[in-house]
Amino acid sequence: MVVIMKSGATVKEISAVVARIESFNFRAHPIYGEERTIIGVVGNDRPLDRTVFELMSGVETTVPILKPFKLASRDFKKENSMFSILGTNGSSVKVGGNDLLLIAGPCAAESRQQVLESAHAVKEAGARALRAGAYKPRTSPYSFQGYGEDALKWMAEAREQTGLAVVTEVMAPEQVPLVSQYTNVMQIGARNMQNFPLLNAVGACMKPVLLKRGMMSTIEELLMAAEYILSNGNYNVMLCERGIRTFETSTRNTLDINAVPVLKKLSHLPVIVDPSHATGRSEYVTAAARAAIAAGADGLIVEVHPDPSSALSDGAQSLTPEQFNDMVRQTRRIAAAMDRSI
Ligand code: PEP
Ligand code: MN
Repeated sequence: MVVIMKSGATVKEISAVVARIESFNFRAHPIYGEERTIIGVVGNDRPLDRTVFELMSGVETTVPILKPFKLASRDFKKENSMFSILGTNGSSVKVGGNDLLLIAGPCAAESRQQVLESAHAVKEAGARALRAGAYKPRTSPYSFQGYGEDALKWMAEAREQTGLAVVTEVMAPEQVPLVSQYTNVMQIGARNMQNFPLLNAVGACMKPVLLKRGMMSTIEELLMAAEYILSNGNYNVMLCERGIRTFETSTRNTLDINAVPVLKKLSHLPVIVDPSHATGRSEYVTAAARAAIAAGADGLIVEVHPDPSSALSDGAQSLTPEQFNDMVRQTRRIAAAMDRSI
């Protein structure tokens, strides 16, 4: 249920509603909008008598949320969520607004030199955030697993030099304190979308989260995973479509382009598309990126490597800086057609 306060409801009236919600052993999630405050009520599946709240001072009305995801749903919040991932002033990097968020960089941080070179190249092409993995979820335990804290330090240095925000994956709850010290956005990988202790840990940490869809997960399961993070009080979540597994073998995964409008309809959270993991082949990345923007995505996360042929992971799907430059040029034109900018 959502309790919608009257515009001009006082702090005292809002606190009284929150206290009443908590007295029933439910949790209150107030969102202070410009016009009015709304309060999400979540906790358990027990029905709650809405009239109790409708009779309280300062309350306009209540609305039931029938979907299994509550705080992530459009029924809870009508307007698109927009938040800053770096800085809070004019120079901040935002997601969910008119400007599309371009995140780019190598699959993995391989050396200080490679991270800095990638950061400068993607910044020059128009990216606002740098991606690189310090902890890599590899199918084989014998494959390169990432350089850990050293890699996080290289990314922090790249942020100092370029002003790019940093996006990197966190794989386990016990990594959250360390990774969150260095990064601006914590990425939850496809393989961890339903790692519930990890979702709770990033939910409690308050840094923005990029939540990738599991390769065999439904859209509803993705939204339920987001709900874990939101219900811990962290509302700064981006949803990421990165391709799902189908019978098709010409590409690594199948980009579920439908997911973009479906997620925009069901949820207020920003939607990011990863055309790199969705296709697995650099020659298809730009086409998938164009389609994502045309479908209404709020941003892209793209793998770019200074020398893809020598990449320690995902070289086949990594763009060279020149190819990335060309991708940005093309997607800018699509963005303009959508009345948005990159
Ligand atoms: C990645 O971003 O490099 C990655 C491992 O992505 P995914 O979790 O979508 O496979
Ligand atoms: Mn990768």
